[in-house]
Amino acid sequence: GWKSVRLFNTSNSRMTIMPAWVIDRYGSNDVLRFTKNAGFPIINYPNEVVVQVHAAGLNPIDVSMRGGYGAATMAMKRDPLNINQSGSEFPLILGRDMSGVIMECGLDVASAYFKEGDEVWAAIPPWKQGSLAEFVVLSANEVSKKPKCLSHIEAAAVPYVAATAWSALVNTGGLNKDNCAKKRILILGGSGGVGTFSIQMLKAWGAHVTVTCSQNAERLVRGLGVDHVVDYTAGPVEVPLRALEKFDLVLDNVGGDTESWALGLLKPWCGAKYVTLVTPFLCNTDRLGIADGMLQTGVTVASKALKHLSKGVHYRWGMFAPNGLALDDISEMVDAGKIRAVVEEEFTFSQVPQAMLKVEKGHARGKTVVKIS
Ligand code: NDP
Repeated sequence: GWKSVRLFNTSNSRMTIMPAWVIDRYGSNDVLRFTKNAGFPIINYPNEVVVQVHAAGLNPIDVSMRGGYGAATMAMKRDPLNINQSGSEFPLILGRDMSGVIMECGLDVASAYFKEGDEVWAAIPPWKQGSLAEFVVLSANEVSKKPKCLSHIEAAAVPYVAATAWSALVNTGGLNKDNCAKKRILILGGSGGVGTFSIQMLKAWGAHVTVTCSQNAERLVRGLGVDHVVDYTAGPVEVPLRALEKFDLVLDNVGGDTESWALGLLKPWCGAKYVTLVTPFLCNTDRLGIADGMLQTGVTVASKALKHLSKGVHYRWGMFAPNGLALDDISEMVDAGKIRAVVEEEFTFSQVPQAMLKVEKGHARGKTVVKIS
């Protein structure tokens, strides 16, 4: 297998390299390059940990980022004072999900939380180097103890979609384990990564869950506990949805024209919310720059929210946010048998380009995961 090589240069400071898949420019799948000489991640802050990656999960954002999506926004996060030249993010390592073992802890990482050898999982924020590498450095508050009952491959299928679902449903949607019992939830797009996770979390919390998906995904989502399935390939999906009892929350994983009808499926004047994960946020900042992009985003979301508020329903944007504490709760739910990992396909480290192509083709039925070591 690949082994990271530790070298010592003449000034005696430690210099190390590791195997990784990197990109040196944005583009289509052929920009992916395997190297044995990627920079070894270094602890820069005392609250950081270095993790040896055993498995890396892929998400649609990896394909988008490969093509340059979010580049302007991520550049600002990495380099707020704009000191570095453009392109300083390269060689860039993709991969937002990881499961692995802690190799080294920063001085402020309390040993009560993490120590060398702990098995952990994490969703890696898009502005950091990703998990398609043998090692990654993360803040301790981004990582969490991996569920004991999952393999690394299974564990790497969960964190990014789980943190996204948590942010959208709990932080933005106001749902929690104690207030779902009588709620009717609609998930537009139930068969992909976010959908297959959200279904299970909401069912564990006692909600009534309806999803839209392709007909050939019905068995999968039923197996995860869904109460009602609507096939969106059979005709305009809003027609059968309008015939159903109204909902307390709609989670939109699909976007496009869904906004024009989905808010009409909500119960009016009782705090019902539409939360969409398909937003132009990063496109705005890529296109207009940070300040104007944020302004544009604020104006768009505020005017939409206001428009819908006048009809008695709430319009919100959902956004991934790193959240180690949420992963702790999710880890417990997994070990209690309430949530399982839905791995559609597993690839080896040498097959990263094939794995990316799989994600790019769409029609996910759960997650695509790469075994790293
Ligand atoms: P996946 O690619 O894993 O899943 C998408 C699923 O939707 C597939 O199963 C696909 O299957 C299905 N689908 C496609 N079109 C429709 C449709 N019209 N109606 C119902 N189902 C449909 O994506 P994720 O679950 O990881 O993410 C979902 C969306 O959320 C993506 O657009 C993603 O970019 C976004 N996202 C946004 C985040 C944020 O921070 N804002 C964070 C994470 C995700 P099929 O085509 O066969 O029906």
